[in-house]
Amino acid sequence: MRKRILVSGGAGFLGSHLCEKLLGLGHEVVCLDNFFTSARRNVEHLLDDHRFELLRHDVTEPIIIEVDEIYHLACPASPVHYQRNPVRTIQTAVHGTLNMLDMAREVKARIMIASTSEVYGDPKEHPQRESYWGHVNPIGPRACYDEGKRCAESLTVSYARQYGVASRIVRIFNTYGPRMHENDGRVVSNFVLQALKNEPITVYGEGEQTRSFCYVSDLLEGFVRLLATPDDPGPVNIGNPSERTIRELAEMTIKMTNSKSQLRFEALPVDDPTRRCPDIGKARALLGWEPKVSIEEGLGNTIKYFKDYLGQRDPS
Ligand code: NAD
Ligand code: UDP
Repeated sequence: MRKRILVSGGAGFLGSHLCEKLLGLGHEVVCLDNFFTSARRNVEHLLDDHRFELLRHDVTEPIIIEVDEIYHLACPASPVHYQRNPVRTIQTAVHGTLNMLDMAREVKARIMIASTSEVYGDPKEHPQRESYWGHVNPIGPRACYDEGKRCAESLTVSYARQYGVASRIVRIFNTYGPRMHENDGRVVSNFVLQALKNEPITVYGEGEQTRSFCYVSDLLEGFVRLLATPDDPGPVNIGNPSERTIRELAEMTIKMTNSKSQLRFEALPVDDPTRRCPDIGKARALLGWEPKVSIEEGLGNTIKYFKDYLGQRDPS
């Protein structure tokens, strides 16, 4: 059945791919964004589709639109972006989510909130299960985002309990792919661009900290399956459980780009989590979901995207 679906943050990295996927599934899409960390060009190719609408709006301002479903993604997402204006990050995470929940309540839409593995902080439990309450520094430089998202989760369950809003919470682990921002400082985009330009690869700390990288198409399949579940299962981790060190990622990127880059070790940011890996047992059991795209394939696609971005050509 064709639905009318709102994607907040729809012009961003994940949001733009999600808009494409939902149009591909036959739905109408309203993309809402204030372009704080993105650009119109991410969704320009969708503008000719009569089922696609682009709306410039800041989610910290109330808004009501008649839709059947809402994917609420609007929020600065990389440490560099969310720490630039921490007060604004908290406002977006909290007021923005409140406004989206008010809209869901008003128009009786089902809503999914984009939460994050950051709610687990620097975890003492490994891998992280949804039942783990986390280990977050409430006053550190990452707190604006981590606590903002934790509050967004609290708001979501409160709207469900108090007003019966049908909601889902997805805890997203590090995701990568084409259309990542070239300058938001996230590790995959940084390493790929540095390697393609034969510049030093900036490894923070010793590079022994771990992350688990999920390719964007895998993540979005999880989103759609989660929103379609008949009952609210509580928060669900969506991510790739294949854990690797940041140094391994750096070496793999150099190899796959045939780069002359060398590793350059720099200071580890404050409160940088030492380990992160999702337990995806709940997503497997509930959604029949697991990631399909290997790091070699996903990184290959991302390298190709950034080569095009830099105007580099493969020798043929
Ligand atoms: P992104 O920066 O590319 O996208 C965020 C989008 O939200 C941008 O288009 C931005 O302009 C928009 N936005 C920000 N503030 C807004 C506001 N006040 N009003 C309207 N729009 C606003 O980042 P992304 O990686 O696509 O992340 C999307 C969501 O997923 C975020 O909520 C983020 O916290 C969550 N998430 C992402 C990852 C990841 O690895 N990519 C991991 C965990 C959680
Ligand atoms: N990182 C790095 N070099 C970079 C960018 C990031 O070593 O140029 C590290 C960072 O310290 C963290 C990991 O890579 O340990 C992932 O960083 P990112 O900002 O992508 O996401 P996070 O998981 O920290 O939110």
